[in-house]
Amino acid sequence: MNFADFYQHSVDHPEQFWDQEAKRIDWRQPYSKVLDYSKPPFTKWFAGGTTNLCHNAVDRWVQTQGDKPALIAISTETNSEKVYSFRELQSEVMRAAAMMQSLGVGRGDRVLIYMPMIAEAAFAMLACARIGAIHSVVFGGFAANSLATRIDDAKPVLIVSADAGSRGGKVVEYKPLLDEAIRLAQHKPAHVLLVDRGLAGMQITEGRDVDYAALRDRHMQAQVPVTWLESNETSYILYTSGTTGKPKGVQRDVGGYAVALAASMKHIFCGNPGETYFSTSDIGWVVGHSYIVYGPLIAGMATVMYEGLPIRPDAGIWWSIVEKYRVTRMFSAPTAVRVLKKQPTEFMRKHDLSSLKALYLAGEPLDEPTSSWIANELGVPVIDNYWQTETGWPILSVAKGVDDKPTRLGSPGVPMFGYKVKLLNESTGAECGPNEKGVVVIEGPLPPGCMQTVYGDDERFVKTYWSNFREPVYSTFDWGIRDADGYYFILGRTDDVINVAGHRLGTREIEESISSHPNVSEVAVVGVEDKIKGQVAVAFAILKNADAAATPEGRKALEAEVMAVVDKQLGAVGRPARVHFVSLLPKTRSGKLLRRSIQAICEGRDPGDLTTIEDPSSLQQIRAALAD
Ligand code: AMP
Repeated sequence: MNFADFYQHSVDHPEQFWDQEAKRIDWRQPYSKVLDYSKPPFTKWFAGGTTNLCHNAVDRWVQTQGDKPALIAISTETNSEKVYSFRELQSEVMRAAAMMQSLGVGRGDRVLIYMPMIAEAAFAMLACARIGAIHSVVFGGFAANSLATRIDDAKPVLIVSADAGSRGGKVVEYKPLLDEAIRLAQHKPAHVLLVDRGLAGMQITEGRDVDYAALRDRHMQAQVPVTWLESNETSYILYTSGTTGKPKGVQRDVGGYAVALAASMKHIFCGNPGETYFSTSDIGWVVGHSYIVYGPLIAGMATVMYEGLPIRPDAGIWWSIVEKYRVTRMFSAPTAVRVLKKQPTEFMRKHDLSSLKALYLAGEPLDEPTSSWIANELGVPVIDNYWQTETGWPILSVAKGVDDKPTRLGSPGVPMFGYKVKLLNESTGAECGPNEKGVVVIEGPLPPGCMQTVYGDDERFVKTYWSNFREPVYSTFDWGIRDADGYYFILGRTDDVINVAGHRLGTREIEESISSHPNVSEVAVVGVEDKIKGQVAVAFAILKNADAAATPEGRKALEAEVMAVVDKQLGAVGRPARVHFVSLLPKTRSGKLLRRSIQAICEGRDPGDLTTIEDPSSLQQIRAALAD
């Protein structure tokens, strides 16, 4: 079947289509209804069916390929490498599950996972899935305040963490940040389970903190059966940034997610049991959930978990992993490729990359020079794919597992099966024609795997995502354009979310953090184009006492102070590349910040329509600050 027919069938007859795809996973009890869309926009897939993510990712492969590699944990930070077979992975997951149960974790309880890229993080996620606990993984690069907000929202019974991570040979302590986060949070978890990697000393809170290794010792022989869950029970919450300072908990189901991953692994990522998949992302992001942990394992593949930089010990490290483990499919982000592009190519050329069939890139716009360069170097197709934390799997791509539809430079591709993608005019809501810019929206019902709701806040789900146009459609908050052949091009966000090195950050969160500096009275943060990271955050702050920034030295010192505040509260991931000081910010007469104008000036573009600006001299201040 060609992709056009395959796609058409998926949107014209979703129940038939997904009923067929659902055969890719094991069900304990068959579902009674493929799709229940009786309360739009809330969607229930495979209602009444029972299944389990851990069973599909681990147990069912133990039966057929128990001794084949499942998890390959490599750290160039601690120089360690360990391969777990499906059988060994199952044992570790059962131990972790028993440990969690001994700490009072049960079905529906939340477990917050704040961990570096070590095998125990995957054990913890799969253990939650096994016993029906809901995990919420928080990216290890986030600091105390970000973590505290998520603790208060998820209200975890247990937090699983470690003494430290490591980046570029530098130890990054987790425990003090976690202790501070728990101190700041209203909700206090009963227990904290800690992997001691021996990287940093830990201050232990008696009665609360538990050592992972010691508890594991007591559960070596644990046999924890899978808890069969109704398809629409919650598997996990993953927080993502939006336009407000409060992150949204993207809530995902069990059955729909498992089916969507199995289908995408087959049709988009073309993975086969026994092969190796290598995604360079982090478990703290959605790619880590879908295509480090669950997706490849559900497809019976070995998955690589890599802790370290792409250029350390040298720029050949990823390619040596591809060679050693005969990786067939690799997933990364354009930023990482741009980093590699600056390195001598001999590092790549000295490795045997003949196993590699394709490189998938996502998370941010893929520019043509980056895409062409890596495609040439590797001699394999480079496949862009566009999606979001909310959708869990690609919205736009090309499905090489279905047919050989060519990719088009600069475009992530065409709508994937199940997604009814449209472009709507931002102000009129009318559907855009070819080559007309509009907002990328998806008509309901969203396909399996997409978010069920905002955790604990159905109203926010409807208001945020489904109420932007007259017709009730899901908004991605991305600008897009479609060419005459149906290929889409993504042109950036319509909201105040920025994308730094493929990581999504809310400018409001960064602004709130900067505003907590005692000398800052007001601040605007915008995303500015960057050659390597795609975008970086740049801040313009108004001071309470401007004398502090009267001299270049004063400005420098203050800039460092502001950056330190962000580091401490949000983590280095949110740190602006520059903090400039001004006495006026461009605003409309009604007081709304003109962020798009500030951004345009930073990027050397025209600031746009300024008829509503209150004081045009504010623009001059932005220009002067940039020239400083
Ligand atoms: P996240 O939820 O962190 O994965 O971020 C999702 C956002 O990243 C999208 O809404 C887009 O703005 C951007 N994005 C993701 N993948 C792509 C891509 N392939 N091309 C362009 N933008 C992308």
